[in-house]
Amino acid sequence: MEFFDFLNTAVTPYHTVDALKSFFKANSFAEIELGANLEPAKAYFVCREASVIAFRTPKKWSGTSKFRIALAHTDFPTLKISPNPDGVNAGVCTLHTEVYGSPLFTSWLDRDLGYAGALAYVDADDSTLKTKLFRGEKLFRIPQLAVHLNRGVNQDGLKVNPQIDFNALWAGASESNVSENRKNLFVKALEKELPAGARLIDFDVQLFDAQPANRGGFNDEWIYSGRLDNLSSCHAIAEAIVSAKSAENDCFVACFFNNEEVGSNTREGAASNFLKSVLDSIASLQNDNARDVILEGQSPDRIHETFTSKGHARPLTSYLAESLALSIDMAHAEHPNHTEKHEPNHAPLLGKGIVLKTNAQKRYASDLMSSAQLRLLCEQAGIPLQVFIMRNDMPCGSTVGPTVSANLGIPTVDIGEPMLSMHSIREMMAASDHADMIKLVEALYC
Ligand SMILES: [Zn+2]
Repeated sequence: MEFFDFLNTAVTPYHTVDALKSFFKANSFAEIELGANLEPAKAYFVCREASVIAFRTPKKWSGTSKFRIALAHTDFPTLKISPNPDGVNAGVCTLHTEVYGSPLFTSWLDRDLGYAGALAYVDADDSTLKTKLFRGEKLFRIPQLAVHLNRGVNQDGLKVNPQIDFNALWAGASESNVSENRKNLFVKALEKELPAGARLIDFDVQLFDAQPANRGGFNDEWIYSGRLDNLSSCHAIAEAIVSAKSAENDCFVACFFNNEEVGSNTREGAASNFLKSVLDSIASLQNDNARDVILEGQSPDRIHETFTSKGHARPLTSYLAESLALSIDMAHAEHPNHTEKHEPNHAPLLGKGIVLKTNAQKRYASDLMSSAQLRLLCEQAGIPLQVFIMRNDMPCGSTVGPTVSANLGIPTVDIGEPMLSMHSIREMMAASDHADMIKLVEALYC
């Protein structure tokens, strides 16, 4: 999957998952529902809303099988169009937006903004709810005040009040707009995206940076794009699981979760039962193995030894305790104009390799053995590794790593590609770090 195509296509979590699904389908992954019968040495994926989990079953599930899991998130900070968004002010139709996650507010001003999302609708002759992904073709804008009308802004800094400043301008108002009591103007525009006669029931639409991804730097060494956090990690994981081959005994799992930017505690988020349900159904392969051994007329001893020295099928948690998850999310590179923001001995640099993130307060999942396993993996694959810890006088961010590790008991290490401008509408990273990340996840899946 071409990286820039993915960055330009995945403008909402729905579009992220749609692009991943197409990529998996094109590479012979079968889409299944939870509970479907699985076969050894096959590739599958399961969706839940704007999350997707892909996996490769091993040739044979055994008592020593392990899961090798990579985790990333499909969402990014944004402005969502509110349920009743319409306003008309100063001769302009405006849209009220609601903040999703923690965007860098000022970066959303004076940008060309696209709009996209999912629509729930019913056809004219049928009351069954259907959904449709769409991406609008027009560009909206949130202009900032001119410097002449905001004297002192360059000295005092721009302060954004998201309730006041984040109404997006989307159309010039006509006389009828003003008299139509300002309601449903945007809904009417969205209905144009539906099949003829269909009626819009609800929508989940967000704004996005419409500028395509670009190469930058004098030697083209950098990438500038919206949504690098965390499409970059999604791309690396997807590339790696597609190019992998089924292992003898281990199962490769690639998880792409929505809602990390708002805490993951949703039906489709990393705190949900989604991953556990998928792993449960994979571990049920051990029952098939048991049946095979019985059919082969093996002795009970042989059957037991197929799975465990204790003589019964092992529970999922016991497999998980011996497995490994890489929680992959972007990391803060040292900013050349603000080197004081990093702990001097733990300041990752752009273009110098993968970042291992650790935190004594456990905002990251990395622990002694998961970090040690990562160090070995990088050493064996010849991948440069840097270490990040947050300064003691600054609070540390978090990832899906601690949530998944605590819920499933799987040793997990938090890692990422170093970047600048995290959560800006346009972010920046080094191309070589992305190549290293793909190599690392390939090493996990081999
Ligand atoms: Zn992230």
